[in-house]
Amino acid sequence: MNYPRCQLLPGREKSLLRRHPWVFSGALAEPDAAFAPGETVLLCAADGTPLASAAWSPESQLRARVWSFDPEEVIDADFFRARIARATAWRRMLGLLDPAGGCRLIYSESDGLPGLIVDRYGEFAAAQFTGAGAERFRDTIAGLLLELPFLRGVYERSDVPVRGKEGLAERRGMLAGENIPAEVEIVEEGLTFAVDLRHGQKTGFYFDLRSARSVVRRRAAGRRVLNVFAYTGGFAVAALAGGAVSVLNVDSSAPALARAEKNLRRNGFASGWENCCGDAFRILRELDGAGEKFDLVILDPPKLIPGKAALLRGCRGYQDLARLGFRLLDPGGMLANFSCSGLMTAELFQKITADAALEAGRDAAVIARMEQAPDHPTALAVPETFYLKGLLSRVE
Ligand code: SAH
Repeated sequence: MNYPRCQLLPGREKSLLRRHPWVFSGALAEPDAAFAPGETVLLCAADGTPLASAAWSPESQLRARVWSFDPEEVIDADFFRARIARATAWRRMLGLLDPAGGCRLIYSESDGLPGLIVDRYGEFAAAQFTGAGAERFRDTIAGLLLELPFLRGVYERSDVPVRGKEGLAERRGMLAGENIPAEVEIVEEGLTFAVDLRHGQKTGFYFDLRSARSVVRRRAAGRRVLNVFAYTGGFAVAALAGGAVSVLNVDSSAPALARAEKNLRRNGFASGWENCCGDAFRILRELDGAGEKFDLVILDPPKLIPGKAALLRGCRGYQDLARLGFRLLDPGGMLANFSCSGLMTAELFQKITADAALEAGRDAAVIARMEQAPDHPTALAVPETFYLKGLLSRVE
């Protein structure tokens, strides 16, 4: 297409040829070219060969993100309609378009839509725009989402600090269609959750943990469960549905625990659980000091490694948690620990968990590996789209 051309430095086209969609400023002949934020540009090799069309992001080190590796493709409403249809078709194939359920409908780079995340909650959705390109087409995308026959309203949750890197202010509010209700109920594998799209963390609910919830549900029978970083009780409900004898939820957010309580009651669990509000690291130490024991400990902390600088500290955090988790288990117990830090590799996470078991003096063996559910696919060309790792370890 006739988009303004943007030349790469010699040899810097390699990642594009491998269909990785990010171009950093250092790879460009003119990184400070005066294109508008989000403007579509044509990325060309140093010899002038057109390679891809991309969204320009003047404020970010990640200066361009590819929309299409077909340099002829026009980036307009039809382009976005086709990408959204493609993403939607995969969720239908996965059986995730049940009107009463929810799922991640669009997962950014993995669905060929960098900088756009859309989570569907029944007939409503929460959208997040994290790139200058997606932002520029915001109105177009909003209109196209409403064209989907199963959506009535879309709320925007672009209140994430990462927008700052793109020179975008945080934003939240109605985006398109009908006003969303204060809470939206969704059903997952027969369990009901009420989600607050306006105020919940991220877009309100962790669909990426769907497969992990089902592992926990399958393994919870007869167990005393400690659910640390419980948020709105996803694992708590799954564990009780799977026959857990008790659940202790720990989280530092009182509103999250209040919602967990509602979700537990909504699913018929009036008792058999307790909530404990406070810092997880402190509470784990206190439980350990008091000699408390459990049969299943779940540790699902927030991202402890937000950037490379935090790698060491974050690893120590994961290891501390796992060590305390192992200590709190009776023989025959199981630890389910997770990391949603993209910078933590699966291999390193296993190593850290192994070190934690050693420190706790426990023999342990992994019986299941968990990862982000399939509506959060890993684009093979973009390994950064893989982030969630979990291990289920049995303890002697
Ligand atoms: N396991 C949850 C998702 C966890 S999100 C689920 O199944 O949906 C991370 C949670 O950790 C949030 O609810 C946040 O409130 C909580 N959190 C963050 N830091 C914490 C801390 N230091 N102590 C306890 N909870 C914390």
